[in-house]
Amino acid sequence: MEREQIVFVGTSDLSGHFRGKSFPAADLSARLRRGVGLAPTNIFLSAFGNIQMTTFGTSGEVFLIPDASTRVFVPFDGSATEYFYLGDIVTLDGAPWDFCPRQVLRRALHRLEQDTGLRLLATFEQEFTYSGVAAHPPQPYELDGYRRQGLFGEALLAAMRQAGVIPDSFLCEYAPRQFEVTTAPAIGLRAADDAVITRELAQAVAFRFGHRVSLAPIPEPNGTGNGTHIHWSFRDRSDQPVLYDAQRQWQLSQLGNQFIAGIAHHMPALCALTAPSLASYYRLRPNRWAPTRADVAPLDRGAALRICPVTGDDPLQRARQFNIEYRVADATASPYLTLAILVQAGLDGVRHQRQIEPTAAPALPDSLGAALECLEASEAAVEWLGADLLAAYLQFKRAEIQGLDNLSETEICRRYAEVY
Ligand code: GLU
Ligand code: MG
Repeated sequence: MEREQIVFVGTSDLSGHFRGKSFPAADLSARLRRGVGLAPTNIFLSAFGNIQMTTFGTSGEVFLIPDASTRVFVPFDGSATEYFYLGDIVTLDGAPWDFCPRQVLRRALHRLEQDTGLRLLATFEQEFTYSGVAAHPPQPYELDGYRRQGLFGEALLAAMRQAGVIPDSFLCEYAPRQFEVTTAPAIGLRAADDAVITRELAQAVAFRFGHRVSLAPIPEPNGTGNGTHIHWSFRDRSDQPVLYDAQRQWQLSQLGNQFIAGIAHHMPALCALTAPSLASYYRLRPNRWAPTRADVAPLDRGAALRICPVTGDDPLQRARQFNIEYRVADATASPYLTLAILVQAGLDGVRHQRQIEPTAAPALPDSLGAALECLEASEAAVEWLGADLLAAYLQFKRAEIQGLDNLSETEICRRYAEVY
């Protein structure tokens, strides 16, 4: 008997999980037009899988439509092919649904283009824990640490390339069992799509090896975190970079200064979306190479916004390399919401001509609850997300906090590591 091929379409939802539905590959052309039906509440399933109270309850219907340009088709010997698409959620009339994470990012990118004529160029650097190596002894950055993960890294890079995601690096990181994978920068929506595909393929490859990767923010409260660092810059209408200005402080153009100042200004509220789990805040503590303040600094891996190095003498090459790294994100966040909110906050900085204030770098919120309060108090966030999505998100995340009530930090880390 021959097996029948099945395709999955999903999105990185409010919990940051990649969720959706699957169908026979034979029906693909019809599904590319019609999509698969979802309850609106589908995108509000909790981080841990349970159905939480949402504004929609059990009613309503929306459609998740595969985006043909995102096709992932990666055969694995002796097991099912990884075959999936990323999708957009539309209403019954076929209009973009306001709560669709990919749509939230599209809106932000559209605004960026309208206000400034710029396109975002970004990439996600993703750290994770791989169960296929021993935790002891720790082997930070050692060749032997890299060696002991065996064939996992090579298989992952091959799978990414096959899926149209260009690998940039794979390395043995600082913490026990920790590795990192980075992709080449991509324009706009594709940058977030690449992050989602990379996470899934890391899981897919680990699964074929009888192992698991965990992208949870931190495996135990006193450990070192798994960050998702986002490198970003822009290209103008003639494909030229715009952040670099050799004459100015930190080689940062005026636009770059304003954009960063906007992100720094709104950072406490942004945390609720980019570091959106209880465990996210155990990572954002001193001496973990993770940020603790809403600060900006050149070449500093402890800063929330790091101005990255450039090399060589050619001014054009320097300008093209120049980028900023946002370090306050982790994999419990949807890459779509993360990029959307960064762009919106940066644009707010441009609109209000904000300037980086190196001496005024407030501490980041120390818990998800505190971050949600900042988000709720932000008037700008209402405009960025829409009042309905913002209210739903606050309710969604507060239910997550309540669900983990009375658990120790160690137990909370364990719960997140099981599902991310
Ligand atoms: N693992 C650190 C973090 O949680 C970052 C280490 C690095 O700079 O690569 O963000
Ligand atoms: Mg790293």
